[in-house]
Amino acid sequence: MKITRRRLCGLALLVSLGVVSCQGGAEEAESVVNVYSARHYDVDIELYTQFTADTGIRINLLEGKPDELIERIKSEGDQSPADVFVAVDAGRLWRAQEADIFQPVQSEALNAAVPENLREPDGHWFGLTTRSRVLVYNTDSVTPDELSSYEALAEPQWEGRVCVRSSGNVYNQSLVGSMIETIGAEATEEWATGLVENFARAPEGGDIDQIKAVAAGQCDVAIVNHYYWARLAKSDDESDLDAVEKTAVFFPNQDGRGTHVNISGFGMVKGAPNPENAVTFMEFLVSPEAQTVFAQSNNEYPVAPDVELDPVVAELGQFKVDAVNVTAYGRNNPQVTEIVDRAGWE
Ligand code: FE
Repeated sequence: MKITRRRLCGLALLVSLGVVSCQGGAEEAESVVNVYSARHYDVDIELYTQFTADTGIRINLLEGKPDELIERIKSEGDQSPADVFVAVDAGRLWRAQEADIFQPVQSEALNAAVPENLREPDGHWFGLTTRSRVLVYNTDSVTPDELSSYEALAEPQWEGRVCVRSSGNVYNQSLVGSMIETIGAEATEEWATGLVENFARAPEGGDIDQIKAVAAGQCDVAIVNHYYWARLAKSDDESDLDAVEKTAVFFPNQDGRGTHVNISGFGMVKGAPNPENAVTFMEFLVSPEAQTVFAQSNNEYPVAPDVELDPVVAELGQFKVDAVNVTAYGRNNPQVTEIVDRAGWE
């Protein structure tokens, strides 16, 4: 099936990043790739523009919320123009696979660039960037030698001192899902129960709010994604810089399995009308060129090794990554929901 201009122009939200005329005339076959993305960063647009300049393949971009885009691809069915689905969080990519919207891709370039633990084993989806779920602590009230692992935050010494956002958040769900995979459901539930007992307050706000609560002394340690701290460190706002001044980042579980990471990633949509262009696009995203741009622009880690990091992120130091395969997060999610409920993690 060939995608046509007429069909594309009928899609109100499908935004062309190239030049396209929607005024009648002959429908020339042209080289396109249709990307449905739940990742909303300026750097993505920058790279998509670069991709078109390099390859001549125009990108039509439809942005939306992940579950809405998955639903849309399902309801469009065989008629879906979607070639590639991009999303943040392995749990969501898992949900997309469960919704049967992906087809497996075998590509040497993708398999070489994306470490095995950061992609779905059969090629249904691949990591694009990673983010680590770290501890941020108040440097007045905590010394780094008091910190060790996620598990240790459930110990009595942390009573009334821990902040973390709600368990409904997918970042926490993926962390808990990874723990089920590595330490088992029973130990994970024990941990979640102890963690909730140590909360300084009922979960509220996002990761930035947890960092600010640590800086303000409302809690001594928080579990957050590393890039939020990096984002504050680059802010022009005095209160953001003040929060950074009063806190530091710690990578947990370095003496054991490593720090939990999550991914943003992508997969090829089942029945993609432009499969070759889709593979070209996906391979471009993990190329050293694109991975460097991701690393330098968004405070994330590239999936490809040997790519230079953003200076603020590099300063956090190198760390051991938990090698559990990212598919575990979504696979264990039904158990996660039960465990956090029983633990009373709001
Ligand atoms: Fe985030």
